[in-house]
Amino acid sequence: MTRIRTELFRQEAGKALNNRHLQEALSDFQERISKATATAFSSLSDAEGLRLEARRARMRAIENLDVLLDRLADKILNRGGRVFFARDAREAVEYCLETARRLGVKKVVKGKSMVAEEIGLNEALQEADIQVCETDVGEFIVQLAGEPPSHIIAPAVHKTKVEVGRLFSEKLGIPYTDDPVALTRAARNALRQRFLEADMGISGCNLACAETGHITTVSNEGNIRMASTLPRVHIAIMGMERIAARLEDHDVLLRLLCMGAAGQRLAGYVSYLGGPRQPDQEDGPDEFHLVVLDNGRSRILADEDFREILCCIRCAACLNVCPVYGKIGGHAYGHVYCGPVGSVLTPLLVGVNRAKDLCLGETLCGACRDACPLHIDIPGMLLRLRSKLADGDDGWGVKRERPAEKLFFTLWAGLVRSPGLYALALTAAAFLQRLPPGAKDTITRLPYPFHEWTQSRDIKRLDGRAFRKRWKELR
Ligand code: SF4
Repeated sequence: MTRIRTELFRQEAGKALNNRHLQEALSDFQERISKATATAFSSLSDAEGLRLEARRARMRAIENLDVLLDRLADKILNRGGRVFFARDAREAVEYCLETARRLGVKKVVKGKSMVAEEIGLNEALQEADIQVCETDVGEFIVQLAGEPPSHIIAPAVHKTKVEVGRLFSEKLGIPYTDDPVALTRAARNALRQRFLEADMGISGCNLACAETGHITTVSNEGNIRMASTLPRVHIAIMGMERIAARLEDHDVLLRLLCMGAAGQRLAGYVSYLGGPRQPDQEDGPDEFHLVVLDNGRSRILADEDFREILCCIRCAACLNVCPVYGKIGGHAYGHVYCGPVGSVLTPLLVGVNRAKDLCLGETLCGACRDACPLHIDIPGMLLRLRSKLADGDDGWGVKRERPAEKLFFTLWAGLVRSPGLYALALTAAAFLQRLPPGAKDTITRLPYPFHEWTQSRDIKRLDGRAFRKRWKELR
């Protein structure tokens, strides 16, 4: 199973903040990609209308998931494919392993798949002595480096070309170069042989369509097309929510996915997969399997407060504008889903207490909601998660965290509702603030339990005169 390290968020974020290369790589990437996305959206005649239409289509789909998934499955079965509904990661992995064993699979080529990462499929295949080769260049790089991906669509964004050059030289045995063209050629040469030798292809699923009974995969390198047509068996793994009811809805979502992901009108390669090779087709696998994964999604679906997160199409637009992601990168989140979407999804999937620092670590600035092609209210859901942490929640099994903080804010709320007490507290604070060290205008170190505020910033000393009094003077 994949290793979940969400408990280490604070430590890992601290390390990332001291990593200058990471800061530069992320800032450069965010600037380029978020500009490209904004330009692509502004080129649409009615971008806002399209976004609202897509949001409605997604909400409709997740509210009718059972019917739509059955329709998708029937169509794939009718074409000779096989469909497996996995309740959790273990069932999904077992199914893939069994299929591989039955067919004597020794080598697998994989297209980028967040869900496969979520269930720890690579580790399980390798433990079963099956070689797995990632074929998306970014994934190929992180696999060679022995690292997890750090971005939903750009898994190796944290690596500089010098680092990639050294890695390729060491692992692929080529002379060192940091020329991107030469590095891409080296990756292509290494991968070509693996495509030809593979017995099994595995891919994720960007979208599925119930009306047509197909799943869609997109890539800019053509690797998923190769992985889904060359080997004799193909397994596609999809999160159960990634479905659209009609082709019309699917096409709107596909457009927004490509724009949100890379500012493109359409990805370089779009493949529709709906079963094994048919008698009139030249390419395609002998066997086609679709694994539909629940793994905690039904529980999210049942909760009206969080259901909206299932609308996510994993375009990563929210990561590309997030000030927190931009400083710490994806590894700090300790789970496959990072950035703003991960800060909501991960606690719901792995446990709210276990991943509490992810939802407490976001700024709630709202940039993610603005950038999201579906206007998913990530800040609203983060607040709901925080309130569960403050109050506890039996339904989600959340234990109360930081009761002192809750007590502080309860007292604060009482204080600001009472003008007399507030004025008194202000006078006391104006006097006490002389005690902590700092310059005339600033405090550089607050005592416990407020000390964390001044660990990375100074705060201004209070003016000492109440706003109401100053307001009267101004008038
Ligand atoms: S939350 Fe919105 S912006 Fe973020 S990955 Fe999902 S669809 Fe894209």
